[in-house]
Amino acid sequence: MKRLEGKNVLITGGSTGIGRATAIRFADEGANVAINYHSSAREAEITLAEAQKTCSIIREKGCGEMLVQGDVASEEDVKRIFAEVLGAWGRLDILVNNAGIQVKSPTHETTMGAYDRVLAVNLRGAFLCAREAVRHFLDRGGGGVILNNTSIHETVPKPYYASYAVSKAGIRALGRILALEYAGQGIRVNTVAPGAVVTPINREWADDPAKRALVEAHIPMGRAGDPEEIAGVFAFLASDEAAYITGQTIYVDGGLTLYADFRTPWSSGS
Ligand code: NAD
Repeated sequence: MKRLEGKNVLITGGSTGIGRATAIRFADEGANVAINYHSSAREAEITLAEAQKTCSIIREKGCGEMLVQGDVASEEDVKRIFAEVLGAWGRLDILVNNAGIQVKSPTHETTMGAYDRVLAVNLRGAFLCAREAVRHFLDRGGGGVILNNTSIHETVPKPYYASYAVSKAGIRALGRILALEYAGQGIRVNTVAPGAVVTPINREWADDPAKRALVEAHIPMGRAGDPEEIAGVFAFLASDEAAYITGQTIYVDGGLTLYADFRTPWSSGS
């Protein structure tokens, strides 16, 4: 059963990792997918090439695809991204706020430039894209779906990554606020909070067997997740099977948020 037949979807940061897997999964479900990719000077060629590869996979599935370059932290870029998608397709049904970055830095050494950039891409970017999507959904009537990619760190503290965890907690709040604000207009807003997933953002440990084993030792299910396992949850939340779900976060984390220290009864006497 194709659950997203004919739906038009925009995925930010859709050229790699979870965004890419979600783009392909949405095409499997029959959706037309617009992939936003970011083109900083250093990464330009890599992200464009990755985005083009993803588009050709979507085309082979018989779905519409388009590439839209832009920095989600820029209001001007976000307005242009939406204008390009709506200019080409006339309507958007689903937005996936997936783009994200992280910077490791002890808080006392963190520069405001680094802090502000993480907040700008992750939280301001999610707000800007959600705002444009809501404007469009309200203009055309009939509702729509906004999905956010946060992290278990929307609630779990992450020392050395204050900017990242703060941005993700902010997106969680944003999702819940928008869900409540626009529930009456048929707009559903939900969030997926992945645990440790093997993608480029985690190259530092994912490509090193010893470091990866260390990471996986913390995960109750004993392994890191695949991007496809996150994409499947996005597809469910985008579909009408989730028609009565709004304002929620689904943790997709192999049990990471289950307080694994409590696996053995150390906290109470017998
Ligand atoms: P990734 O690095 O492959 O994906 C991030 C994407 O965002 C990239 O395509 C990148 O080009 C894009 N991007 C960065 N800055 C941008 C900007 N200014 N404008 C537009 N796009 C921009 O890694 P990923 O793991 O696939 O990350 C995707 C999302 O999943 C992120 O929001 C990340 O925080 C979240 N997440 C990942 C994990 C994990 O373990 N991999 C866990 C929890 C949450």
